[in-house]
Amino acid sequence: MRPPTTSAATSKKTALAEALQISLVGEIQNLLGAEAIEDLDFEALETALRTRSLQIAARALEQRFNRDTSDAASGALHPCSCGQMARYVDRRSKCFQTVLGDLTLERAYYHCPECQSGFCPRDRALGLDGALSPGVVRMIGVVGAAVSFEEGSGLLKELAGLHVGAKQVERTAESLGAEVAEDERSHVDPVPASEIAPTLYLGLDGTGIPVRPKELEGRAGKQEDGSAKTREVKLCTIWSAESRDEEGVPIRDPGSVTYSAAIESAAAPDSGAERSEFAERVLREATRRGFDRAQRRAILGDCAIWIWNTAGELFPSATQIADRYHVKGRLCVIAKAIYGPADPQAIQWGKLRRDELDVENIDAIIQALTEHSQSCEEARKGIDYFQNNRHRMRYVEFHAQGLCTSTGVVEAGCKVAIGERLKQSGMHWTVRGADAIIALRCARLSGRFEDFWERRSARRKVA
Ligand SMILES: [Zn+2]
Repeated sequence: MRPPTTSAATSKKTALAEALQISLVGEIQNLLGAEAIEDLDFEALETALRTRSLQIAARALEQRFNRDTSDAASGALHPCSCGQMARYVDRRSKCFQTVLGDLTLERAYYHCPECQSGFCPRDRALGLDGALSPGVVRMIGVVGAAVSFEEGSGLLKELAGLHVGAKQVERTAESLGAEVAEDERSHVDPVPASEIAPTLYLGLDGTGIPVRPKELEGRAGKQEDGSAKTREVKLCTIWSAESRDEEGVPIRDPGSVTYSAAIESAAAPDSGAERSEFAERVLREATRRGFDRAQRRAILGDCAIWIWNTAGELFPSATQIADRYHVKGRLCVIAKAIYGPADPQAIQWGKLRRDELDVENIDAIIQALTEHSQSCEEARKGIDYFQNNRHRMRYVEFHAQGLCTSTGVVEAGCKVAIGERLKQSGMHWTVRGADAIIALRCARLSGRFEDFWERRSARRKVA
């Protein structure tokens, strides 16, 4: 015998659970049929059962929701967001796409004579805006951050049985990404002092992404005719490197990297604002991670002028390091420019210069460049590059201090956070769309999506 239930709600819940169980067991029997277990096509069975289980759950949920008319319990009037009272009109049904499949829900509909808008209080309470449930929006956010919209649409179908077109994936992921970007600007939670590593690294880098022609009007670029094809995404990344490899060289701590990026200017604004948009972004990320409070701070970058201007302006006392990984790459480019790409002398010359770099012999590098400065433009530019940045190439001294100088984290960060998702062939972004997807991707890669999602749900409950 069943124990007596204490309330009507519990008894309703139990009835629903029992009904679900009976339906499911029956379905499973039907699908299994009389075949021997060994003869079953297990994959077909599991997929069919998942689909049926979700359908049964969807119908049960639909019935339960539609029986409940308490959303009209407040009577004929309901407060509108404009401050006036909206009037009850009728119950209206609408189809929502959920992770269980389509649900048709009937909800009390109110209309406000003051602002002429209509709404269903229940939709707001459940976080349903538009025709997608929060679970579906979240799944779209996950795939939209990771892969192209087309691929994302395919994954949703294959993995979750959801039919969402590529265009809808794009719209939803971009709209969610815009929320993430807004949340990033307005929400800076500084990490507690006890969790700040003794040494923190800040990397700054830029990378061009392909954009639509209208996003480039009036912009000079690197194409032969002086036009541009890309806009630059500026990225800041923060990490710690307290771990050591077998030789005692500091290596990046797993899970310590966070990213923040956007298509933004790093130039001092004419508007009278104190800092550039990008400098503000770096400052927010630094505050969040406690970079500003770390005992020791190092800033790594290639040698773009905006990088060191931003670094010097925000953190004048931080150690500036020219990322050795990048500097070596630059030496390879110069070697190929001098001797031609396939010449073995280029390899030999490049290796000698990289060795000189490792022992901080910048004078020898400049000497070697000078020998080719008349005949090679890259070599001539290289002289300025090494002259202007030699104080950022004190690698022997940096190593003695236990600092990371050649992590590749910054360049890899650009690839992981931006390139892999936004620089695939055939992609042409709007600035708005790219910034939204970048924000979404950075939040996920930095392990912040969950916190964003919780804030979003809480905000929706209040609204
Ligand atoms: Zn109103």
